[in-house]
Amino acid sequence: MSLHKLTAHEAHELLVKKEVSSYELTEAVFKRIDEVEDKVKAFVTITREAALEKAKAVDDKIKAGEQVKPLMGIPMVLKDNMCAQGVKTTCSSKILHNFVPPYNATVVEKLQEAGAIVVGKANMDEFAMGSSTETSAFAQTRNPWNTDCVPGGSSGGSAASVAADQGFYSLGSDTGGSIRQPASFCGVVGLKPTYGRVSRYGLIAFASSLDQIGPFAKDVEDCAQIMNVISGHDFRDSTSADVPVPDYTSFLNQDIKGLRVGIPKEYFVDGMDPEVEKSIRQAIAKLEELGAVCEEATLPHTEYALPVYYLIAPAEASSNLARYDGVRYGYRAEGAEDLLTMYKKSRSEGFGSEVKRRIMLGTYALSSGYYDAYYLKALKVRTLIKQDFDQAFEKFDVLVSPTAPSPAFRFGEKVDDPIQMYLSDIFTMSVNLAGIPGISIPCGLVNGLPVGLQLMGKHFDEGTLLKVAHAFEQSAGYYRNKPNL
Ligand code: GLN
Repeated sequence: MSLHKLTAHEAHELLVKKEVSSYELTEAVFKRIDEVEDKVKAFVTITREAALEKAKAVDDKIKAGEQVKPLMGIPMVLKDNMCAQGVKTTCSSKILHNFVPPYNATVVEKLQEAGAIVVGKANMDEFAMGSSTETSAFAQTRNPWNTDCVPGGSSGGSAASVAADQGFYSLGSDTGGSIRQPASFCGVVGLKPTYGRVSRYGLIAFASSLDQIGPFAKDVEDCAQIMNVISGHDFRDSTSADVPVPDYTSFLNQDIKGLRVGIPKEYFVDGMDPEVEKSIRQAIAKLEELGAVCEEATLPHTEYALPVYYLIAPAEASSNLARYDGVRYGYRAEGAEDLLTMYKKSRSEGFGSEVKRRIMLGTYALSSGYYDAYYLKALKVRTLIKQDFDQAFEKFDVLVSPTAPSPAFRFGEKVDDPIQMYLSDIFTMSVNLAGIPGISIPCGLVNGLPVGLQLMGKHFDEGTLLKVAHAFEQSAGYYRNKPNL
């Protein structure tokens, strides 16, 4: 049996029936990694020994009669911007190439308590800035569906590893689309939770008011199980919300008859790949077939999402990244004769060009004299964008759109044209600006490459997203498509 191909819940069932051990599951995943990693390059770090040891410990607990919890003993992958104690955490940046955190992120702690097995840290765009994983200082992760194409970004390694069965699931982070867009490109399920749903403690910050951790999974049921483990209030993250966490699996296998689905007209624009549009229209027809009531919706300030995002995200990044000065963390340039030169050289040599571009844009937008004209204005428009959603959700339970305007593109196609690259998140950024949840689920293939359907929901209403996603998935069946690696 090809154990690595199972979903996490299928692997869990085998563990419960004692038909397989966690050690066997973990070995199967490493065998798969050995087989395909040369082609995919999903990882920055592989933690083989620690994972196998942990698997043995979990097996001992199971043998001793401990109840097998849903993610217990199941191998998974972390994006390399989440701190794991004693494991190199680089953000795919030269400036953190040797950073070994002395503590665990809250999500890592929660996963460990749940008995998860971390097999490695996934490659990403440097500091999560990008949409193709090409800005990584270390490697080019490839799309398992077509290795000439990018996996999306910034959580490209997390998405590719799950699509290539190098882990049963993974975690990523999403600031403007970095979970949903790579999930769409790699044909897996990716959920960005409501801002505050999942603790950001130990997530290396990019843009603190937008960043959120979430799962990549092979199907919606796994996604619900992962959300059950990682969600909840954390006193160590003052922006995490003290809102009760439902059992997300209770939203599976539910009827969606009468559910009100809005189709924002601003998300069906000229320039979108017609084949992508066709897949999305078919998906909408499928939702109608399942009893949902689909109608046009409007989000009038959509056109401002991109400029607003590219003022707010770089502004916050320029402040968050000020801490990398060669003194306290990571890379320090050699041969500087005084402190200021050491700062300058360390930062010049340690950061890649996209990160530098963001720091410059952000510093400019925050500088006195420009603050009111750019940053403050952007904050005001952000409120208008949020109000668009509030109004739409008075009428609708969920909104649907494409996750990205095109399927995965080729390496090099956009990397020298930042605006083109930025446009690949055109349908995902508003969700972060509004702080609402969004999920991407596979809804078809175009030229052998996956297309993702995005569902957007009300604050803290991940449950309804999972309900619709599960109903769609089970009836459409696209999640059974697998890349031919
Ligand atoms: N691609 C967007 C950016 O480059 C979003 C990244 C993200 O969500 N981390 O900022």
